[in-house]
Amino acid sequence: MALYGGIEGGGTKFVCAVGTGPDNIVAETSFPTMRDSAATIAEAIAFFRAHSQERPLAGVGIASFGPVDPDPQSPHFGYITTTPKPGWAQTDFLGPVREALGVPVGFDTDVNGAALGEYRWGAAQGLDTFVYLTIGTGLGGGGMVNGQLMHGLMHPEMGHMLLPHDWEADPYAGYCPYHGDCWEGLAAGPALEGRWKTKGTELPPEHPAWELEAHYLALGLVNIIYIFSPQRIILGGGVMQQVHLFPLIRSKVQALLKGYLQRSEITRDIDQYIVPPGLPGRSGMLGAIALAEMAAQAKVGSA
Ligand code: ADP
Ligand code: ZN
Repeated sequence: MALYGGIEGGGTKFVCAVGTGPDNIVAETSFPTMRDSAATIAEAIAFFRAHSQERPLAGVGIASFGPVDPDPQSPHFGYITTTPKPGWAQTDFLGPVREALGVPVGFDTDVNGAALGEYRWGAAQGLDTFVYLTIGTGLGGGGMVNGQLMHGLMHPEMGHMLLPHDWEADPYAGYCPYHGDCWEGLAAGPALEGRWKTKGTELPPEHPAWELEAHYLALGLVNIIYIFSPQRIILGGGVMQQVHLFPLIRSKVQALLKGYLQRSEITRDIDQYIVPPGLPGRSGMLGAIALAEMAAQAKVGSA
């Protein structure tokens, strides 16, 4: 059976793996995302070289932090583009990997990668329109529409949607360097700490922080439901390890919809509609393997 390589390139750390799926990962490593992008990418390449001596890889997949250029027709396909992360703006990520390893390379955003992993082996199996969101250091979303990973002009940036912000109830200005109080600025991990001066991990479950957090998450989800009409929404990332958020978010989503969408998936079975990942902590890495599989199949298809 062919082996694939996967890179989950996050803003904080890189995870690289070789394997075929959740039950067969033959090698895995992780290392910090260095300021030196070339050195970071070189470390990933060295890992794949070391683990493809006996059996060559059939393809590599890259699920990258962004914004990225995911358009195969573009001269900058496979680049990380306008990131504020020092050392990484306008970085060709795909090119050096393809050149060094000489195999088909699939490339997408970290969240589309995680969505693909969930589609292939996790909580989105059998669906064709769904959204995967991560609520962690940032807030980002990807997914599929009609069986295709979401792309467009570039890719959705759901985390930066603008929401009603009651400044009297919540005077916190938000931390997004571009927009202040966009969704990410109000609701990702650093906003919890910025607003309450306590790390999210240390806020007790009865703290009012969680009610407000669930309110902001529900506001964004309602917009996502209206826009994409997803068959399911998967919520991952560090903040969602606070599992008591799930019931709070579900009931607030129902309340905000005000009965407008009469579908039993939402009105009755919302526990299966807004869900945690089926591959907790591994959606991104496994999604990168699935991107590799797709790239290898596309290559066979075009030969
Ligand atoms: P990343 O987004 O960098 O991949 P995570 O998804 O772990 O990593 O997100 C890290 C962010 O989530 C930090 O802001 C951290 O404070 C917050 N976080 C991580 N774990 C928890 C937790 N159990 N409860 C609340 N917040 C958490
Ligand atoms: Zn923003």
